[in-house]
Amino acid sequence: MSLREPIWLGQRIDRWRLSAETAAGTVVLASGESIGARRLWRGTNEVAATALRLEVSGPVSPAISEVGVYRDPLHVASGGVPMSAPPVGEPLAAWGLPADAVPLIAGPCSAESRDQVLATAAALAPLPVHIFRAGVWKPRTRPGTFEGVGEPALEWLAEASRMLGRPAAVEVGSPDHLEAALRAGIGVVWIGARTTANPFMVAELAEALRGVGVPVLVKNPVNPDLQLWVGALERLAAAGVRRLAAIHRGFSTDHPERFRNAPLWRIPLELRRLAPSIPLWCDPSHIAGDAALVGEVAQTALDLLYDGLMIECHADPPSALSDARQQLRPEQLRLLLGRLERRRPTADRDEVCARIEALRHDLDETDGRLVELLAARMAVVRQIARVQKAANVAVFQPDRWLATLERLRARGAERGLDPDFMADLYRLIHEEALRHKAAVTPKEEGQ
Ligand code: PEP
Ligand code: MN
Repeated sequence: MSLREPIWLGQRIDRWRLSAETAAGTVVLASGESIGARRLWRGTNEVAATALRLEVSGPVSPAISEVGVYRDPLHVASGGVPMSAPPVGEPLAAWGLPADAVPLIAGPCSAESRDQVLATAAALAPLPVHIFRAGVWKPRTRPGTFEGVGEPALEWLAEASRMLGRPAAVEVGSPDHLEAALRAGIGVVWIGARTTANPFMVAELAEALRGVGVPVLVKNPVNPDLQLWVGALERLAAAGVRRLAAIHRGFSTDHPERFRNAPLWRIPLELRRLAPSIPLWCDPSHIAGDAALVGEVAQTALDLLYDGLMIECHADPPSALSDARQQLRPEQLRLLLGRLERRRPTADRDEVCARIEALRHDLDETDGRLVELLAARMAVVRQIARVQKAANVAVFQPDRWLATLERLRARGAERGLDPDFMADLYRLIHEEALRHKAAVTPKEEGQ
């Protein structure tokens, strides 16, 4: 607690006393003789109080200019829970989800209109969709695109949820969103990838979720940082959220391969190793970015023994106001669900197999990025050739090539790569680069 007297009036207080109203009656917390410019008092014992009372006395008109009550800063920062403990979550069976089917969250990327929400929900009614999703506040990377309908759309979701007899899920990005969602009867919330990357916001949401009891799913952060993801789960677990799950939706990289967001399967699997009780869901829609690739990603997730899927589905994808390319029609979702094979964990498909498989997927992704990088490198080479040809400069500069080769040998050695291997590899790349340079015609100039 912090107290101040308006000392420009002189120091007037000669006694003060701070007490708390508790279930057991009034408890005096602290007392003293003067306050002056500032008096700080820090409590050491935890007291559950319904009110605090400050009493002051002095010979003439005692006055206070400021009273501040602050939480223990350590408590706010760490939730008072040792961070070495892995976050713990209840199994999905305890959420009331079936054990004999893949728990599925499906619904449109965004709630756009009451008709669109209800039409999509009606089309999904016959399918084994356990939770109906839609975003009402859309965290768009760029302004000027559809940012969601906001609070009024919560009513449409609640209506869809009643119609389906299944809970509705919505993304919350702030305590205000959470409060509005809970008021509207939304049964499940998720934290989006851009929010998970912001520990301030996650801490605020965790505080607001204290004692609430709704299931919370945490998407991976946009950047490939396992610690941020774990940190968000830790903050929520420390606030007492027990129905807690992680959603893998892929990561932004500067060389995405076939998918919109690189899956980097090793990261979610490492999360599972660190926090084995946290159910792991996959959002193949945001990984794939393309309706035609959603099934492939979903099957990989099931091969890796993920616990659930979240799939974007829209009654009419081409008209969708966000993520039109990746949303499935309800009929496509039905077909996809029929094709998906759920693997059972058995002795020969255990944790080790799942990890090897995840690493192989990573390897394939890395190879894909190498191809993209090589193509990008050749494009730069052609650009250089255009400038060289325009200036009538030779396209091959031997000194530059020898210096490059030496630099790459040394750089490779620093990273544990054999210098001769690096030289062989770059001779091949250089040969191909010269072929590209030769093919650049004056016609291409200025393009
Ligand atoms: C979404 O689920 O529609 C969404 C915005 O996802 P993400 O936070 O994964 O980008
Ligand atoms: Mn989306």
